[in-house]
Amino acid sequence: MPQVSKILNQYCPRSGKAVSMDSLTLYLGHTVGFCNPRCRDDFRDNQDKCDKDKMYFEVLIKETLVKMTY
Ligand SMILES: [Zn+2]
Repeated sequence: MPQVSKILNQYCPRSGKAVSMDSLTLYLGHTVGFCNPRCRDDFRDNQDKCDKDKMYFEVLIKETLVKMTY
């Protein structure tokens, strides 16, 4: 189960709306969230077509890693 306290992003990469607790999935080992389960399912099932979403998450992952370094 994804952990609510460790969600990578606060806002859906597609709509900019707040992440919904029933719309979480894993990306590169990080818990990522979407605004609704349809966004989440589409990302999960079509990850190879979701370059914009992946870029959004990868920027946040890099920022998280930088914060952990300092
Ligand atoms: Zn969304």
